[in-house]
This record gives sequence, structure tokens and C-alpha cells, in this order.
Amino acid sequence: MSATAPITQDVLTIRRAPQTGKRNLIGLTRPQLAAALREIGTPERQVKMRVGQVWQWLYHWGVRDFAAMTNLAKDYRALLAEHFAIDLPQVVSRQVSADGTRKYLLRIAGGHEVETVYIPEENRGTLCVSSQVGCTLTCSFCHTGTQKLVRNLDAAEIVGQLMVARDDLGEWPVPGAPKDETRLVSNLVLMGMGEPLYNFENVRDAMQVVMDGEGLTLSRRRITLSTSGVVPEIARTAQEIGCLLAVSFHATTDAVRDKLVPINKRWNIRALLDALREYPRLSNSERITFEYVMLKGVNDSDDDARRLVRLIAGIPAKINLIPFNEWPGAPYERSDWARIEAFADIVHKAGYASPIRTPRGEDIMAACGQLKSETERARKSRAEIAAEVAGGAGH
Ligand code: SF4
Repeated sequence: MSATAPITQDVLTIRRAPQTGKRNLIGLTRPQLAAALREIGTPERQVKMRVGQVWQWLYHWGVRDFAAMTNLAKDYRALLAEHFAIDLPQVVSRQVSADGTRKYLLRIAGGHEVETVYIPEENRGTLCVSSQVGCTLTCSFCHTGTQKLVRNLDAAEIVGQLMVARDDLGEWPVPGAPKDETRLVSNLVLMGMGEPLYNFENVRDAMQVVMDGEGLTLSRRRITLSTSGVVPEIARTAQEIGCLLAVSFHATTDAVRDKLVPINKRWNIRALLDALREYPRLSNSERITFEYVMLKGVNDSDDDARRLVRLIAGIPAKINLIPFNEWPGAPYERSDWARIEAFADIVHKAGYASPIRTPRGEDIMAACGQLKSETERARKSRAEIAAEVAGGAGH
């Protein structure tokens, strides 16, 4: 963290309707929205059209008030407002890094908090979305892993992260204004807090809303879901979501991966690679991303690099090398740059793209593996983390 880096922080509440106890329309898939409109008495012959109209207002124009849905009859708008709400997570804080990365601390139902990160590039950007408060798993290099799972996010809270970011970036189209093709949120990665495949149905429904071509319109090839290796749900991701897949791989032996990614004790490297070789959407144009955090003296040797390319042989893949991002109490150090480059070189010479991920937002704890919310923070001490790494705690 560079001490001189200017950090701006302001507390704002962005267009948030109060929690009403009414059913929230955000996050409902089209069939679920149709069922909800039927329940309030919408005539069957109108349901499809009404779904299309409401959908456009919510996800194309970003409207938060039923009264503004002007192509619907006044009394129907009143009926909608009587029964439904348009609720988004509340923005508790918004931090902006010296490199432009933005981190949002969001409050959701129950007062729990999650973090979402926006990483801008030239005329585009990536939103890193959370799927759980805390995490089911305890990867020892990951800050979120020190936060016990509180709960899964529902589809509204997952979709809501994208809508909050679009609010903040002013990315909703303005009626009558010339169409602007630039998408500031051009990519979405499910790499925030939580293991998305341990919240499969909510993540699937949320991505169906996000990928729909009449609203938020992020194509499936612009969405990457990262899993630590929930093997039984991997094929289902291809069949029911269809987005790109990334795997938190991070080690080349079971002995090391058991420590870094404890789910490996359930489905080890061989089981994971077998599932990836069977991945229904496997192709050269849709390569699987192997994420590999670079930990000094742990998993960064030349032997590791050579073993890695042997292990994934035959899988259309790219390897994202992630220089470890430190967090308070972390039991690891980042590999030296020369070591990272030497590792990348071996992987590259073996024929794999091996980009080294530029750490973004480190100064606001927004970089990969640094996310953690206040919720339940007290639950895990440094001693517990150290004990876990030393293999004291079995998971
Ligand atoms: S790396 Fe992912 S799965 Fe592992 S603890 Fe962190 S958030 Fe959870």
C-alpha cells in the first residue's frame, strides 16, 4: 500500500427505496415475473406483454418507481406499486482507489454487508460480484475465507450489485438521448465474496436476468464464474448458466492444495481436472481460466510451473497468475516479481497464455482475495488463521 496514494471516500445512499416488505421484482426471472403478475390478477392474454414492459423499465431504463412506467395504464401502475417493490442493496460506502478501482460496501436484508468491486479500463470495465456473505469455504490465502458463511445472497442481491454500479457510473440510457454503445460495465466476474456454486440457483437466476437481451444485456461470454472446485456443479454451470468458467486452482499437488483450497480434500486435483475435461462448453474459443495465486515459497517454483502445464494438458485453458494481495494477518507473502515472471515464462513456453494480473485497488483493500465485510468479522482470530494454515484445523 503506497502511503501517499490519495484515497477518496464518501457515504451516499443511491436511489434506494425503503424496505417495504412487498415482493421485490428485482432478480425475478421472466417466468417468475410472469407468475407474480398473474398473482395480482393480470389477464393471461396480457402477461407476456406486461412482463416485457416491466422488464424494460427495470433493466433497460433502470427505473425505480412504478409511476414512471408510462406505457402502462395508471391503475395498473398503482396495482404494481401496491403489491411490489423495486429494492436494491443500500450503498453504505464507496471507496475510490488511486488507480480508479471502486469498492462498494453494500447492506442487504438483515443488515448484512457485502463488497463489490468495479475495475475500470479504457472505455470498459469489470464488475467483481459477490454471491455469499462470508464464504462456505476457508481458502487460506483469501481474506473472505476468514469470514464464516452468514448466508447466500438471493438473486435480487446479486443482480442489485450490477444495478448499483450502473447507478454510480451513470450508465443508464437517457430517453431521447443518442444511443451510446460504450459499456462501462462490459464484463462481470463472479469472483467476489463466496463460492458461487454453493449458491447455484440464486446465481443461475441472477445471471439469466443479467444476460437477458432486453435489459442489462451482458452476453454470457462477458461473464466469468469462478469456482474453487465444487465438482458436482461444474457441468451444470455450462448447461444452466452458460457463462465462461474459471477455477481457483492455485497448487499443483494435493498436499499443497489441501492447505490452500481445503475443498480439495473433498474433490482433489484429479477429480477436478476430470470434471473440467468433461465440461460441456469446452472449446478453444471458450477456454477455462485457471487462477493461480503466486505465494512466495509455497507454490511458485519452476517445478510447480512444469507440473501445472502437465496437469492441464489437453484442456483449452489460460492461466491467470495473481500476485498475492496481502491482508491483515495473512500467513503468506507475494512471490518476487522475478519469480512470477520466470513461472509465467515456463507456462507460456508450454503454449498457454499466462497473463500476470495487475493488482488493482490494493490501497482500498479491493484487490483479489482482499474482500471482507464487517459482518461476523470477530468470529475468526489471527491465531485461528495461523492454526488452520499449520494444518491444525480439519475442514
Ligand atoms: S477463494 Fe473464494 S471460495 Fe475460497 S474462501 Fe475465498 S471467496 Fe471463498
